[in-house]
Amino acid sequence: MTYQMFVNGEWRDSSNGESIPVLNPATGLSIAEVPSATNEDVALAAESAWDSFNGGAWSRISPGERSTVLLKVASMIEDRMVELANLETKISGKSIKQTTGYDLPYTVDNIRFLAGAARILEGKAMGEYVGEGTSAIRREPIGVVGVITPWNYPLMMVIWRAFPALAMGNSVVVKPASYTPLTTLELAKLIEKAGVPKGVFNVITGPGGRVGEALARNKNVDMIAFTGSTEVGKRLHELGSSTLKKISVELGGKAPFIVFEDADLDAATESAIVGGLVNNGEDCANSTRYYVHKSVKDKFTSLLIRKLKKVKVGDPMDPKTDVGPLISSSQRDRVEGYIKKGIDQGGKLLEGGKRPTINGMEKGFYLNPAVIYTENQQSDIVQEEIFGPVFSVLPFTTYDEVISKSNDVIYGLGSSVWTKNVTIAMNAVKDLRFGTVWVNEHVTVPSEMPWAGYKQSGHGASLSAYSLEEFTYIKHVYFDLTGKVRKSWYYQIYGGN
Ligand code: NAP
Repeated sequence: MTYQMFVNGEWRDSSNGESIPVLNPATGLSIAEVPSATNEDVALAAESAWDSFNGGAWSRISPGERSTVLLKVASMIEDRMVELANLETKISGKSIKQTTGYDLPYTVDNIRFLAGAARILEGKAMGEYVGEGTSAIRREPIGVVGVITPWNYPLMMVIWRAFPALAMGNSVVVKPASYTPLTTLELAKLIEKAGVPKGVFNVITGPGGRVGEALARNKNVDMIAFTGSTEVGKRLHELGSSTLKKISVELGGKAPFIVFEDADLDAATESAIVGGLVNNGEDCANSTRYYVHKSVKDKFTSLLIRKLKKVKVGDPMDPKTDVGPLISSSQRDRVEGYIKKGIDQGGKLLEGGKRPTINGMEKGFYLNPAVIYTENQQSDIVQEEIFGPVFSVLPFTTYDEVISKSNDVIYGLGSSVWTKNVTIAMNAVKDLRFGTVWVNEHVTVPSEMPWAGYKQSGHGASLSAYSLEEFTYIKHVYFDLTGKVRKSWYYQIYGGN
């Protein structure tokens, strides 16, 4: 199947006719072609977005009117839930039970929250802060937002970044990840049908190194909202600096999962499996470093491995599959490389880490989850984001030691603490330098709460009302109350005259 891009309300090929294939990671075979946008295509999309923003058919209508249109999109996604979940699974390799049971319904809930919350955002209360005048604050859309998304939650990440922008009246140009552009293009069809004016929502496809970079350089683009790797996030800051774009980045993670001596080990290991394997281990919130108190480490590890042996790796379209293939052959090589480094740097492979054979899908990118025990805090498997199903288990003795080791990475996205002791939990919540701390749980994020990073996990905020503010400028408005020709403070120029 051949897809087209969506620019200025029209479906188009790239201006030079070139396209790139989209593979199904379960089979390794091509399932579609999408255009490979040229610099001219990017410029046209950015210009259309700017014209639509200036025209005001979206930016100047009321929040309630925009909300009504976005809610329509949510209902349309809901109506096509099964079809979209199937497509999401085919392009990403994540299990069908995850896309139907979680990704799609949660995405619909995200839109409904954002569309509703946009109606109650307000400037701060008016007040007479200098006595002679009344001040007020307005929140206004930024203009054109370039949205660049990763492959791990293809549709959801577009919603998290483009929908708060749209809700606040901005126009957007989306550049989806090249592995997974299809559900974003399907979304564009729904947005068109829902009545979003032409030019307000555009999708361009093609390699990030060219298309994403051209978007970040474009003078008609006022802001880049990026979700992806820390490396590309840094590059976008460089590129955006020539036009001083606002850059909002949501980047990698390396979540610690801290198990204190008194933790419920059955509950902790049950969650450890899900925290490590959800989304095939390709989730920025995945628990990846399991710091377990040395008095319970053996019991924790054997329970973990016993539960892991029951996990079924296989065809993601099979409803019984728990873990599907990795996104690509190179991603699998990368994860295997980390397993090898973990062992070379002093770790012991306790379980998994080999390629399974899935009947009829020998070319798929499958890998059995691996458990590695290590005491080397500086090992690459402990310090770097692997983005694959690798559990690193490390022992600890004291509270100060485990907090210091947990914070000792460049990332600061998700983290969790397992204990029944409220004092330990509350101290850990305070001392962990991460945007989210779960207590006796890992991964859950309600639409109402912010998903945001510390340190090199970025500085944007997704979900919650904070993600809406992110796509606005703040404006101070001042009304004179005196009606006088010469106000009291003019003496600074007029002196005694
Ligand atoms: P990535 O390699 O950084 O790519 C993300 C997007 O950036 C893709 O659309 C990519 O296009 C594009 N891109 C690549 N190079 C570019 C460049 N030089 N200039 C502009 N754009 C460029 O990340 P990924 O591998 O897709 O996704 C995995 C990463 O995303 C992980 O690090 C994960 O932790 C992070 N993530 C973070 C969050 C969060 O909320 N913090 C959520 C999800 C994922 P191509 O696909 O064409 O290369």
